[in-house]
Amino acid sequence: TDFIEQTLSAPENAEESALRPLSFSDFAGQDKTLERLKVMVGAARDRGEPLNHILLSGPPGLGKTTLSLILGNEMGTKVNITSGPVIDKPADLAGLLTNLNEGDILFIDEIHRIPKTVEEYLYSAMEDFRIDIMIDQGPNARSVRLNLPRFTLLGATTRMGLLTAPLRSRFTLQTRLNYYNHSVLQGIIERTCGILEVPFEPAGAAEIARRARGTPRIANNLVNFCRDYAQQRGNGTITQTSAAAALELLEIDQRGLDEMDKQVMRVMAENYRGGPVGLGTVAVAVGEEAHTLEEVHEPFLIQEGYLQRTAQGRVLTEKGWHVIGLEPKGGAQT
Ligand code: ADP
Repeated sequence: TDFIEQTLSAPENAEESALRPLSFSDFAGQDKTLERLKVMVGAARDRGEPLNHILLSGPPGLGKTTLSLILGNEMGTKVNITSGPVIDKPADLAGLLTNLNEGDILFIDEIHRIPKTVEEYLYSAMEDFRIDIMIDQGPNARSVRLNLPRFTLLGATTRMGLLTAPLRSRFTLQTRLNYYNHSVLQGIIERTCGILEVPFEPAGAAEIARRARGTPRIANNLVNFCRDYAQQRGNGTITQTSAAAALELLEIDQRGLDEMDKQVMRVMAENYRGGPVGLGTVAVAVGEEAHTLEEVHEPFLIQEGYLQRTAQGRVLTEKGWHVIGLEPKGGAQT
């Protein structure tokens, strides 16, 4: 199975929770987003008001959940965590909202997957802190207004484009998390090694950073595997050599590409002359779910310049052809 995909979809275990930064000062990178959040937190605290609604977007594993917990800590309020697909009907939402206290944060992960019938109720909840729900049926059916405490909605999404405009517009701040650069990621890896008390050489941490796809959650998981590898095949210290060997064993190459990434590019090159080709078609050919390709593999391949998204479909770039050892031919490349 695919290590990267598994890492990003698995629920968090206790050891991972111990690695979560708890305050702004613990959180590395994402300078712009952090600055925006600090401004909003500072202002809300000065006015003694709840934080305004915030939408965090970006690929999985970059720190959206972490930031929501940090915002709770910084505001000194409780964070209630839920996710879009779990909120099945308006009554579920009403239940969540009426259980909140003044100033509480409601974190809705995967907010783009909230059903449309529920989404409409969210509008008045966010804007006016009330919802009108229908109770009873038939001749007794009537609408009841529920007043809500002033709460903060933190939405997280991997797919900003799937959010409707009316929902998006109700967030005061929409901010995007980007892949981390190698040096920031190296810092995160060294912090993780410190917390886990794993001996490491900086060059070993750097080696992991280069192959972690700019993603802290992947970096932390690679640290775990590299620690095991160093214990079993080395002297217990994560060195550059032992980290490189461990990651080769996971089939993660020097650029952070895994087998699935390469398979996607090979299918595009060999079966579709480099595209344009629809993502669904590629997904069937490689035996992976389209949404996994879209959320996990594609954003990284695009960010690194191997793939382009066009109106006609996905296109392999020259860099993409070369990374799988082929010369561009046919398709859109000529
Ligand atoms: P998301 O919600 O975007 O999928 P998470 O917030 O769950 O991502 O982050 C995944 C893991 O990565 C967390 O357990 C946390 O330990 C780590 N992490 C994320 N961002 C940072 C950061 N800026 N600094 C240190 N660790 C981080």
